Amino acid sequence: MQYFFDDFEFVEFVRCRFWEDSMRIGTGYDVHRLVEGRQLILGGVKIEHNLGLLGHSDADVLTHAIMDALLGAAGLGDIGIHFPDTDDRYKGISSLKLLKEVISKLLDEGYVVGNVDATLIAQKPKLAEFIPMMKKNLSEALNTDISRVNIKATTEEGLGFTGHEEGISAQAVCLLESIYDSSSVVYDSQSACNGCQGCRRIIQ
Ligand SMILES: [Zn+2]
Repeated sequence: MQYFFDDFEFVEFVRCRFWEDSMRIGTGYDVHRLVEGRQLILGGVKIEHNLGLLGHSDADVLTHAIMDALLGAAGLGDIGIHFPDTDDRYKGISSLKLLKEVISKLLDEGYVVGNVDATLIAQKPKLAEFIPMMKKNLSEALNTDISRVNIKATTEEGLGFTGHEEGISAQAVCLLESIYDSSSVVYDSQSACNGCQGCRRIIQ
């Protein structure tokens, strides 16, 4: 494809929805308090531990951070807007179900997941052995290949609220790709934007 950077028509082209929004990035961050009498669920995996995360849903902090990254990338706010903790429908719900709802919302907006990279921060328990199952659960809910999902776990060396085992936090970054993306459209200096499968906007 040849671009003509001094061409007015090309300027119109780069402003079209398809081009501007072919990829979008988002970040997410979440924290939940560790308490007795709750299950510890991370990335949809139930983990044996003497403490669990407190929350309205299953308090899956990893899945929540990923959902916030996805919603942020799409410009759709955050999980508090879509799944308020005052709504009884979400009481005790699996966060993987909520993640599937987020993916459906993204598809409505014309996006699929490019990749997700997330970090769990917890002093205890050791999480490495559970990461493959977390990746499997999350990639299925994200409707993407498992190779596009990366999960890491670390500690904060005994420092702060995670180090003192008061809570667990998670951070996530994601990339969304437009389902309308197309590389088959040819533009030159003689033609305006004729619309394309990725554009939905037609200029004759
Ligand atoms: Zn949360």
